[in-house]
Order: sequence, then C-alpha cells, then structure tokens
Amino acid sequence: AHLRGDDRDGGGVRQVHGALWSAVNPTPVPSPHVLAISREMLATLGIGEAEAASAEFAAVFGGNALLDGMRPYASNYGGHQFGHWAGQLGDGRAIMLGEVIGASGQRWELQLKGAGPTPYSRTADGRAVLRSSIREFICSEAMHHLGVPTTRALSLVATGDDVVRDMFYDGRAAAEPGAVVCRVAPSFIRFGHFELPASRGDLPLLQSLVRFCIGRDYPHIDPDSPNALGDWFAEICERTAVMVGHWMRVGFVHGVMNTDNMSILGLTIDYGPYGWVDNYDPDWTPNTTDAQHRRYRFGQQAAVAYWNLGRLAGALASLEPDAAPFHAGLARYVEAYEGTERENAVRKLGLGNFREGDVELMRSLEQWMRDAEVDMTLFFRGLAAIDPESPMPDTLTDAFYNDARSAAAQPTFQDWLGRYRERVRHVDRSARREQMRLANPLYVPRNYLVQQVIDRATAGDPSGIAELLDVLRRPYDERPGRGVFAGRRPDWARDKPGCSTLSCSS
Ligand code: AMP
Ligand code: MG
Ligand code: MG
Repeated sequence: AHLRGDDRDGGGVRQVHGALWSAVNPTPVPSPHVLAISREMLATLGIGEAEAASAEFAAVFGGNALLDGMRPYASNYGGHQFGHWAGQLGDGRAIMLGEVIGASGQRWELQLKGAGPTPYSRTADGRAVLRSSIREFICSEAMHHLGVPTTRALSLVATGDDVVRDMFYDGRAAAEPGAVVCRVAPSFIRFGHFELPASRGDLPLLQSLVRFCIGRDYPHIDPDSPNALGDWFAEICERTAVMVGHWMRVGFVHGVMNTDNMSILGLTIDYGPYGWVDNYDPDWTPNTTDAQHRRYRFGQQAAVAYWNLGRLAGALASLEPDAAPFHAGLARYVEAYEGTERENAVRKLGLGNFREGDVELMRSLEQWMRDAEVDMTLFFRGLAAIDPESPMPDTLTDAFYNDARSAAAQPTFQDWLGRYRERVRHVDRSARREQMRLANPLYVPRNYLVQQVIDRATAGDPSGIAELLDVLRRPYDERPGRGVFAGRRPDWARDKPGCSTLSCSS
C-alpha cells in the first residue's frame, strides 16, 4: 500500500510521482457479452464453465461490475520506445482487477485491457477494438500451447460500443466494435516499471519495487544477500533469452519490443502488431510503424532483448555502484541465448544430441530458406518426413512460395541436404521424426488465419475464434480435416493489411 499514488480520483491524466499505481475503476460499457473464453485458464483459476456463461461473468470481465475484494488500479511505468526514452507511460488501457490463488496454489493477476481511461491514458481513450483484442486473445493462448513463456488470456468480451480508430491502410477514421480482454499472468511488472523511478532519481521507490518483485516473484532469492540484485538480474536475463529462443523456434515476431513491453518474468507480453513468419525472412517485421528502420525485425529480436536488458541494468545500477554484477548478468544472457540456438538446431533438425557444427548447419539452411522463399513452418514439418536417403524429398513441395522444383534443385540446397544426410546417418529415424515433431509446430496463428477469424467476427459470427483456438491447442499434432489451418499463406494475403502487416496501437 505504501507504493500507492496520491492520484485517487482516477479521472485525471497526469504525471504521477512517488507512486507506482493509481486506483481506478473500469468504465462501464453498454452490453457486455462473452465472445470467447479459454477453458484451460478457467480451470486454472477454478472458475466453472457454468459461471463463465453467467451474466455476472460478462459484467465483471467487460468492466461493468466488481467482485468482493477487487480494488482495481492502473500501474505506472516508463519505457524506451524505438530506442528513445519516452518518460512516463503507464497502464493507459489496462486495469488490474486483483490477484487470484489458482487451483494449484499459484498466484495470478487478472487485468482488463480496453476497459476505459486511467490516469495514464494521456490523450487516448483507454479502449481496444475487437480486431486487436481477438489477436491478443488467440495469440497469447496459442503461445502457451506452443510452450512459449507468455501472459495468458481468460476471456474476450464484446462491449456493445464502438471505438473510433484511424484505419492504418487509408488514414481515415472509422468506428469499430470495441472489446475487453482479461489477461492473466503471475505478474505484469515490466522493465519500464523500474526505469521510471530510476529516471526520476526516486531511489526509495525503486528499492521498494525491487524488494516487492523479488519477494513475490523470485522467492528463492534472499533479498538481503549481498549479491541479491546481481543474482536477480542474471535470472531475468536468462529468462528473457529463453523466451526469445522460443520466438525464434516458432517464427514469432513481437513487433514492438519497447522496454515497457518487456516482462520482468520473461513472459511474452503485449500482443499488438505481432506476426508469424510465413516465408523465412529475418528482415521481416509485421509492424508498419517500424517499416523503415525495422528495429524489431524477426532476426534482430535477440539483439534487441539484450539492449533492453541493458536499459534495465542502467535503471538498477542506481541502487548498486558496482557494475560487475550487471556485466555478469548480460554475459549470462549471451550464454543462455547461445544455448537456445544449439537446442533449436538440434531439436528442429532432429539431430539427437548437440555436436560441433550443428548451429552452422542451421545457419546455412536459414540462408537458403531466405533466398528460396520457403515457408518456415511447413519446411521443418516436411523435413521431418523426408527419407534422408532419397534424392528428391517431395514432402517439402508445399513449403515453397516459388517454383518448388527449381528451388530444391539449387546446388546450395542439394549441398545442404548432403550435409544433413551425413549428420543424421546414425540418428534413429523415428527418434529423429519425433524430436522434430515436438519442436516444429504444424499449426501457428498465421496472420491471415487470424484476419479471417476477425472478418467473420466483425460480420457477427464469432465462432471462428473457438475453431482456430481448438486447432492451436495442439499445435504439434497433425489432425485430419484441419489442413486448411496448416496451409502456406495464400497469394491474396501477401500484402493485404492485417494479413501481413499492422500498425502499432489499436
Ligand atoms: P503499446 O504500443 O501497446 O505498448 O502502448 C504504449 C503505451 O500507450 C502504453 O502506455 C499504453 O497503455 C498506451 N496506450 C496504447 N493504446 C492506448 C489507448 N487506446 N488508450 C490509452 N492508452 C493507450
Ligand atoms: Mg505496451
Ligand atoms: Mg499494446
């Protein structure tokens, strides 16, 4: 409670000093109704399916009612956006409802996104449109099922109200249906929560937050041990490396890796203009706001995460004059990330155990995939199915965006295939396939698939959300009749807004 701000009315938009949060209630909406729920998250929180179908559930998770004990608030944070210090940002459209101890004793924070203005909304409305809410709902649950550390989504509730947004493809304002997502995570604390008090020289507040975060979310670290700060930072570095390693494994591009979008727990957070790699391209970003510099492009995510950790270290350094623990933490990041590169090479290629040269084998494959315009997801699934001894693997044909025959015939690929055959010669064939199957998803929420679900929902039929989520629940298991969810991006979707690129805030 000592961290609470003096901003109690919730109505003002202002700089909040000496505080990390402000009490604010969600703003009621005309007619909340549930469009989708995550049944896994319901079970985790111990909410029954009948309860989830009640009017009370829609009211609470649409922002129209509070349950006993909920004391909603918005939190205060800053951040580096696109490489520049942006000052105070804060939860402009996220409102925390409270914490729940789930069925297995784990603590979860429940947060509404799009539930109306907060003291941190600045000039914006605190709302979210249906289209971006569907994207957040589907992708956060899909990431969980893929085994990627992430914040979760409990519910998606339509508000019955319109929200006005600039349409990113023609620059005009348009009214769109609004929605509220309830996101769930053990903690929503971001790097930017530490950067803000550090930037203001408010060391007592920074110190309180560090102790709170270690005490609640890193209980195995003794906050009074002499190296607590360094140990804690190193663990954040390691978790961040593991998270980015998974992104690279599954072909996820976050799109807005600002430090206010970096979780202190190493969870993927803030699903905005994210995207999934179709044709393998390390230079690709889905974010049109970043189209020129491509700071947050697919292939740069590991380097950007390192830079962001440097900003966090810079903030924490005001509590610890010795730089050595921070250097050690960043070194841990590099080591851990290199570990994920080795693991991804071994698992994605089905190599059994790591050997010298495996990462290089993966790199030369990636170089060719980029040149040949190969679908990342379909290629690795197809590679698992090939007979390494056969000269011309036809299980790969579906993966090509251009002429498959000529691309596969290229000497660079034939040469690579020769090296691969040699490397897996003594790996048991079914063990190789199984290792690859578990590392290479068949179903990912490709941009165009999610856009089709959005188009249907906007036209009044939300059932596509549950249909897509059902497939994404078991992303590694090929299922009969679900081929439509596993195809490469169709030509019509290549440059269509929403199907390939998106703008920042919506
Ligand atoms: P993002 O690009 O989604 O990470 O958002 C950056 C900042 O803008 C955060 O502080 C958000 O809370 C805030 N923000 C984004 N959209 C809105 C909105 N519609 N209303 C109020 N604040 C917003
Ligand atoms: Mg954000
Ligand atoms: Mg956002």
